[in-house]
Amino acid sequence: MIPLAEPSLDGNEARYLAECVESGYVSSVGPFVDRFEAEFASTVGAEHAVACASGTAALHVALRLAGAGPSALVAVSDFTFIASANAAAYAGADVLLVDSEPETWCMNTELLYDEVIRRATVGERLPDAVEVVHVLGHPAAMEPLLELRRRFGVRIVEDAAEALGASWRTGPLTGRQVGTVGDLGCYSFNGNKIITTGGGGMIVTDDAQLAAAAKHLTTQAKVPGAHYVHDTVGYNYRLTNLAAAVGLAQLERLPELLLAKRGIAARYRTALSGSPVSLPPAAAWAQPSHWLSSVLLDPGGPALDTVVAVLAGDGVQARPLWPPLHRQQPYRSAERLGGAVAEDLYRRGLSLPSSPGLSAADQQRVTTALATALGAVPVGWSAR
Ligand SMILES: *Cc1c(COP(=O)(O)O)cnc(C)c1O
Repeated sequence: MIPLAEPSLDGNEARYLAECVESGYVSSVGPFVDRFEAEFASTVGAEHAVACASGTAALHVALRLAGAGPSALVAVSDFTFIASANAAAYAGADVLLVDSEPETWCMNTELLYDEVIRRATVGERLPDAVEVVHVLGHPAAMEPLLELRRRFGVRIVEDAAEALGASWRTGPLTGRQVGTVGDLGCYSFNGNKIITTGGGGMIVTDDAQLAAAAKHLTTQAKVPGAHYVHDTVGYNYRLTNLAAAVGLAQLERLPELLLAKRGIAARYRTALSGSPVSLPPAAAWAQPSHWLSSVLLDPGGPALDTVVAVLAGDGVQARPLWPPLHRQQPYRSAERLGGAVAEDLYRRGLSLPSSPGLSAADQQRVTTALATALGAVPVGWSAR
C-alpha cells in the first residue's frame, strides 16, 4: 500500500533519542526542549517559541491567551480538521464558522471582514478573536484580518498545523512565514505533519509577555521559584525532551522535507493536468508547504467514495477531505457564514499520497491508478 503520509526519520532522530536515554532527560525538562524551541523560533522568524504536547494543546493555550474564554466569540474556518474548533470549545468560546474561498480553500477573510463591519454597524456581537487555518499548507489571505485587528482589536491566532515552511511571495507580507503574522501562531508535529515529534506542537509569538504566559499555562501555571504554588488553572501541556529530540532532528531536515513535498506537488500538477480534476490551490502570491497534495474531482464523474475504493484496491491510500465543521455533531448549531464552498470541497476533494519519501515510480502508480479510477487516460507524466 502506498501510504497517504508517513514520516521520514533517517536523520539524527535515533542518535538524539539515545542521548536522552543516556542522559536520563526524558521528561519535560531537558536540553532538547530548549534547543528545539530556540531553533524553531529562528527557523520561522518569530521571537519566541513554546513547545507543547500537541498542536491542539498549542491552539487551546493560544486561544485562551487571545481572549477566547467563556462568553467570547471566535471566528474559525469551517473547512478544517476538527481540532481547530475543539481548541476554541475547550477555551469555553462560541464559534462562528466561516466558509472557505475557492482560490486557497482557506477562510474567506473578506466575507468575515464584511460581516464584522455589518455587525459593528448594527451593534451585533463581534468576534473577539479569529483562528485562521492555513489549509493543507496554503497561506490564507491575511490582510482583511489584520485590518479587523487594527479597527476592532480582533486578536489573530494562526492554525499553521499543516503549513510549517509556507510563506508569502508578494504583497505586504512578502517573505514572512505563516504562523508569524498573527498575535500567536500554532504548529502540529503529529506523525503525518511536515515535521513530527511523534506527537507535539508549538506556539510562536513576537510578544515576550504572551510567550511567558504560554509557557506558564502549559506547565500547570506553576509560579516560578515556589513549590506547588499555582496562580490559575493551567495544563500539563509540555513537550517531553524525548519528543523534542526527534523534533530537533526533523527541523534540521526541514528544507529537504519541504523540497520533497513541493516536488511531489509539482509532479502531480504535471501528471494530472488534463485529467478530470482541479489541481490544488497555489495562488501566485503564496508559497505553500504542499503538506498533502489534494485534488477536486470534476462534477459528473465517478463518486468520491468509489474513487477512494478503487485506489485502495490498486494499493493507493487516498483520503477524502474533511466534512465542514457545520456538519459535525458538536458544531451543528454554531453560527456560520456561508458554507457552500466547504461543502463542495468536501464532496469533491481527495488527498493523494504525499510522504516525503514517495518515489517517482510510486507516484506514477498513484496517478495511473487515479486516471484509471476516473476512466481517463493518464497524460503528461514526467518524473521530473
Ligand atoms: C493536525 C491539526 C491540528 C491538531 O494537531 P495535533 O498535533 O494533532 O493535536 C490542528 N489543526 C489542524 C488544521 C491540523 O491539521
